[in-house]
Amino acid sequence: MKRQTLCFILSFCLPWLNSFAQLPRIKFQKAESYNSNESVYTGSVNPDYLASFEPVAFNIYFWGINRGDGTSEKPMTYNDVEGVMRSINEVFNPHGIYFVLKGYSYVNNDALNSGATHWQIRDYMQQNKHIVSDAFNCFVPYDFKEGASANGWTELFSKTLSIRMKWAFNYKSKSTPHELGHILGLYHTFGKSGNGDIIKEHVTRNPDDPNYNALTEGDYIHDTPAMPNFFNPKSFGTVPKPPNQDASVVDCIYIGNITDEQGTPFVLTPYDVGNIMGYTPCKNANFTPGQAIRIMETIYCNEAKNKSILEAKTKTLKK
Ligand SMILES: [Zn+2]
Repeated sequence: MKRQTLCFILSFCLPWLNSFAQLPRIKFQKAESYNSNESVYTGSVNPDYLASFEPVAFNIYFWGINRGDGTSEKPMTYNDVEGVMRSINEVFNPHGIYFVLKGYSYVNNDALNSGATHWQIRDYMQQNKHIVSDAFNCFVPYDFKEGASANGWTELFSKTLSIRMKWAFNYKSKSTPHELGHILGLYHTFGKSGNGDIIKEHVTRNPDDPNYNALTEGDYIHDTPAMPNFFNPKSFGTVPKPPNQDASVVDCIYIGNITDEQGTPFVLTPYDVGNIMGYTPCKNANFTPGQAIRIMETIYCNEAKNKSILEAKTKTLKK
């Protein structure tokens, strides 16, 4: 069946396709959409619906950014690239999403090697035609501009991302799969902001509960629980944070007693705190069927936003 037809039919069949019954079709406020065209997302977590999408593969091309003289504090090697490809595919393959190495090469530029932002790198690479048109282009500077603490940068539905070579570009690093998750339409588990100061998503997962807001707050996904940004001490369900509430993660175990705005305690398993789109020290790396469905709906249904993504799709994968 053609994808467009499937997307169209689903918009009518949604209540029967969702694994939690009686979920009404969610209408999103324009102001909340951040131009992501939320109306195409069903909020489904149904594995049968996920399995109905064709498996998909994307090309990815890596650009090591050396100093102007061609040297680097830590040059990107084939082993680095191969390791990152394994990290990406270990996270995405269980959901029918594959990444193929298109190639890699180098650019020599002192200003971009260490001390630029993702946006400066991206603009330079576009202006100088250092973009592979049928691939996601991953730029790998040694370091970012001073004060830019994140390991990677990108934006929703983009074809470019940047990852820090200094410590974030290696096998088992979650940075590259995380940024690819954003490209394919996923928000952070704690919400759209980068820091998650205020967690508005409620714990309840009962769509009949008046406090249910899993599809309109946080990451807009039902099967990722409400959770804080564990790297931000201000990021708790109740703001301001009461003095007797705290939260941390040790060996992927959530330790804490924080609550959402209704006073309901957060309930988080090691699988939850290892979500690829969260901010945690946990080394687990996974995402949920609900997130995979949002990715597939980005690819196959979000026609207003998926143009760049479709350009990176391989032409060869058959079911
Ligand atoms: Zn992020």
